[in-house]
Formats: sequence, structure tokens, C-alpha cells
Amino acid sequence: MSRVYNFSAGPAVLPEEVLKEAADEMLDYKGTGMSVMEMSHRSKAFEEIITTAEKDIRELMNIPDNYKVLFLQGGASSQFAMIPMNLMKNKVADFIITGQWAKKAYQEASIYGKANAIASSADKTFTYIPDCSDLPISEDADYVYICENNTIYGTKYKTLPNTKGKTLVADVSSCFLSEPVDVTKYGIIYGGVQKNVGPAGVTIVIIREDLITEDTLPGTPTMFKYKIHADNKSLYNTPPAYGIYICGKVFKWLKAMGGLSVMKERNERKAKILYDYLDQSSLFKGTVVKEDRSMMNVPFVTGNAELDAKFVKEAKAAGFENLKGHRTVGGMRASIYNAMPEEGVIKLVEFMKKFEAENQA
Ligand SMILES: *Cc1c(COP(=O)(O)O)cnc(C)c1O
Repeated sequence: MSRVYNFSAGPAVLPEEVLKEAADEMLDYKGTGMSVMEMSHRSKAFEEIITTAEKDIRELMNIPDNYKVLFLQGGASSQFAMIPMNLMKNKVADFIITGQWAKKAYQEASIYGKANAIASSADKTFTYIPDCSDLPISEDADYVYICENNTIYGTKYKTLPNTKGKTLVADVSSCFLSEPVDVTKYGIIYGGVQKNVGPAGVTIVIIREDLITEDTLPGTPTMFKYKIHADNKSLYNTPPAYGIYICGKVFKWLKAMGGLSVMKERNERKAKILYDYLDQSSLFKGTVVKEDRSMMNVPFVTGNAELDAKFVKEAKAAGFENLKGHRTVGGMRASIYNAMPEEGVIKLVEFMKKFEAENQA
């Protein structure tokens, strides 16, 4: 068996310990004689899995009692519709456009009401986070929406926007559980888990209870109502059971690592290794404004598309996978999520140094 260093933006690297444990339990989960994949979601064993998963994520993120944790399907992209369908009472929402995911959420919301783009960093191809200290928040806005870590462009909010008292909704797909957060600052925090938490197929929505109401937009499908999922503890229909089981194992892994403050230190250290190198390299350079750099997704370029392609190819041959940048951005991107070991980043930088020496003009 040989494992590569996988820098994929998502689905992405998972902790080896978690994969091994899942492998050990594949045919017989704790004496049940079956795999979690084969198990009724109403069984005692699964109930234990989902209850423990919820308890552990609550502990990790310090989630207050007046927030529900929902394990849903449909990816982060379904939330682009589910959020307005449930929250747009006045049919107005404000969006800060920091990349493609925020833009997609904005476009989807405009199907259901008035979506306002109140700030954007499109003018510089999303290489920075706009100043959000005094934005023209709409008086009747039902919520203000952000994508907190921009997976494609590699930017991250270091301070949350001043929403002037309006509910903040955040897509945290690519920074989920990478550092401690103050949940009370948000109305909804949500993400697809396939970036930093688990396998594709699970979307975790953490939502303040007062936002869960019967009063959804007319025509809202039952499956798109937060209330139905909250009332049924994410078991209204068959949940993504195996995915939830793996997420639960990742939560245990994070707790064993020391929790989110330890993860933050670890992620900062990893990101620094890469950024410090990029800052002094004469071949590679980061594409993002320093203050707004993501700890999770690190885009970089040589400035020469042919050389970029050569790098990606040679890196792959050396065991560094998925370093090609997003198809809309080009260049390279190293996603260094929680489960990427520090050793992977150190070895990547060594490889980049070697490539730099060999390809000096
Ligand atoms: C990947 C990603 C999405 C889309 O997630 P799906 O689960 O594929 O719908 C949305 N937002 C962000 C920030 C992402 O990184």
C-alpha cells in the first residue's frame, strides 16, 4: 500500500487513523455483524453513532443549546436555495461576493427574493476580502451572507463583517473545524463536509433555533424545510448514514488531537511553512493579499502557464497529487486541510525548492 500526499480541494484528504478504523469495522461494526452501510438508520447502533457525532461536534465547536445541528444531504449547493426559502421573510438578503461560491449563493437567492450584492472583490479577481466594517446593509435584510473561506481563490475573512445587527449566514465548507469559532456570532454556519471533515454526501447545518420556523416561502419542498429536519433530529428520511459515521470518527480524531485551538496552531504552522517559502521564492508566488490568506487553500503561480503545467506533472510523479489550480484560475493550489500532515507540507516545499533550482531562467 502506498499513500500519496493529497492536496485536493475536495473531496480531500482524511486522517489515516479514521480510514483504518473504518476499514477494521467495515464487515462487522462492533459485533453487529454488518457494516454501517448496511444498517437501518433507525437501529440502536446507528442512533448511537448520530447522537455521539452530534455531541462531539457540539463539544468541539462549543455550540450553545439554542442552536440545532442538522446532518443533511444535497451538498453546500442545496443550501444556496434552502437558506432563502427558510429565512427570507422580507424577501431581502445582502451578499458579500468574494468568489464563485458566494456568487452562486447570491444568484440562487435572487430566484426567491431580492438579493443585494453589497460588496465584492470581483474587481481584482477575488484576491482579497473587501472592507466589511461599514457596509450598506439593507434595512429590511433578513440576513447577510458570506462565504467565509474561499476555496477557489484562497482568501479567508479574518474578521467577520459588521452586519449592523442582522443575522449572519456563513458557508464554512472549506474551513469547517480548522479553528475555534464563536457560534453565537452566526445565525447559520454550514458546510459540505467533503473539504475538511468527511466524505462527500453530508452537509452540516448549525442553525439558531429562532430561525427554524413553519413560515417558509410558498412552494418550499418538505425536504428543504429546516423544521422538518430539526423536529426529526436529522432522521426525517434516510440520512447519509455512512458519511455521518465517518464524520463522527473525524470528530473523535479532532478531540484526541486536542480540539480546535490545537488544530488552529497546527494549521497556522503548516500554512506558514508554505507561505514563507512563497514569499521569498523567485519562481513561485502566492496570488492573494497577505492579510486575507487562507490557512486551508493556498493558490500560487509561476507566471508561466507552461511551467505551471510542468510543475503539476512533475509533482504528481513525485507523489504530490491534485496540485492543479481550479480550472477557472489556473496555476496551482495546495489545499492543506486538517488531515494533511505537517510532513506533507515540508516535503512539498522541498520539492518546490528543487523545482525552482532546476527551472531558474
Ligand atoms: C465545495 C464548496 C461548495 C460546494 O459544495 P457542494 O457540496 O459540492 O455543493 C460550496 N461552498 C464552498 C465554500 C465550497 O468549498
